[in-house]
Amino acid sequence: MDFLIPEDLKDLKNMVRTFVRKELMPLEEEVERSGKIPEEALQKMRELGFFGLTIPTEYGGSGIGTFGYCLAAEELGWAHSAFKTICGVNNGIGSKPIVLDGTEEQKRKYLPKIASGEYITAFALSEPGAGSDAANISTQAVRKGDRYIINGRKHFITNGPLADLVTVLAVTDKEKRAHGGITAFLVEKGTPGFSVGQIHKTMGSRGVYHSELIFDNCEVPAENVIGKEGMGFITAMKTLDDGRLTLAASCVGTAERLLEMSTEYAKRRVTFGKPIAERQAIQWMLADSATEIYAAKMMVYATAIRYDKGERIPAEVAMTKLYATEMVNRVADRAVQIHGGMGWIQELPVERIYRDVRVTRLYEGTSEIQRIIIARNILGYKGGLEG
Ligand SMILES: Cc1cc2nc3c(=O)[nH]c(=O)nc-3n(C[C@H](O)[C@H](O)[C@H](O)COP(=O)(O)OP(=O)(O)OC[C@H]3O[C@@H](n4cnc5c(N)ncnc54)[C@H](O)[C@@H]3O)c2cc1C
Repeated sequence: MDFLIPEDLKDLKNMVRTFVRKELMPLEEEVERSGKIPEEALQKMRELGFFGLTIPTEYGGSGIGTFGYCLAAEELGWAHSAFKTICGVNNGIGSKPIVLDGTEEQKRKYLPKIASGEYITAFALSEPGAGSDAANISTQAVRKGDRYIINGRKHFITNGPLADLVTVLAVTDKEKRAHGGITAFLVEKGTPGFSVGQIHKTMGSRGVYHSELIFDNCEVPAENVIGKEGMGFITAMKTLDDGRLTLAASCVGTAERLLEMSTEYAKRRVTFGKPIAERQAIQWMLADSATEIYAAKMMVYATAIRYDKGERIPAEVAMTKLYATEMVNRVADRAVQIHGGMGWIQELPVERIYRDVRVTRLYEGTSEIQRIIIARNILGYKGGLEG
């Protein structure tokens, strides 16, 4: 599929690939054991510009676009999920609201810090009472002169405990909600009334932190509104389109690694006098995984190229997210099966990856929500989910 990739992006993909294999994959056990990405690795990622790959060059990033970032995400997908998450948020949901709809002043103030990795970011939409039904959030922002007072509680927020800057979605007009009544605000760490609540314990993805964020009469200046009051839901949906594509790309990389591990293991493992690779039952699992990876990769490349051309294609983005995330879960399941008992033992990374990929079907919109977006598009329904 190299024919789809321009030369400069091929170089970038190769650079990320080399770095991931040489510098990040050897650290996986340490991340899993300590629950932390070593500071040295973070520093190397900052120096290589990993935190600002998608941020426009005039604001200190590399401006490689969504397709370019998908290629990087595919390579990062080979390594422990903590690595792709920490740079994925700064390149995606943590910066996109500003890149897409922020004011010039916001771009100048924040994007260089996000691109350099000085600032870690987060995107706070979900709440205990509103996940899939995102327009139903109850966090409120009330205008008082040139300030807004935010009250409410977000949860599951990736990078929540670490974030220096958070995009927070809040209701500014209860009647209008998704149709002009939700606003996006920038809230900096240390703002009075803003605090981190419970840090969630999770099934996988050690080294990534998710938490509640509490807003208790948190005051922000009106200049912290992203775009215009009431436009926040559209900003959020556009941001999620980008995040869904890059997530799908990372799933392709993870699945490729699982297939490589499964293939090598199948050639090595001998039962009843022959390598299991010679058994049709195993070959079919490998063949099914390879076919699904190829399909997902084509979907990611084609959809990301169209997205970068400015096409608004939420249904195709949803199809890509749905297919790639379900695909990597099937590939992980087959990888465990091919490895037999070794697939369930923590000695090999298969066990960890099997746990880590499960969440991809839940966040950035569950599989069911992607199907709803696709079906509405087929049926010609208009609704809040597509933005
Ligand atoms: C690890 C992790 C990281 C996350 N990071 C962030 C983040 O950084 N920022 C953020 O804002 N959010 C984040 N989230 C939240 C995530 O986006 C939500 O979990 C997700 O949108 C689903 O919402 P929910 O968990 O409330 O499930 P619910 O909406 O309660 O859904 C429960 C089940 O019902 C199904 N369902 C819901 N509605 C329908 C329907 N109409 N038809 C059919 N089925 C339906 C769902 O698909 C799901 O299977 C994160 C979540 C996780 C687990």
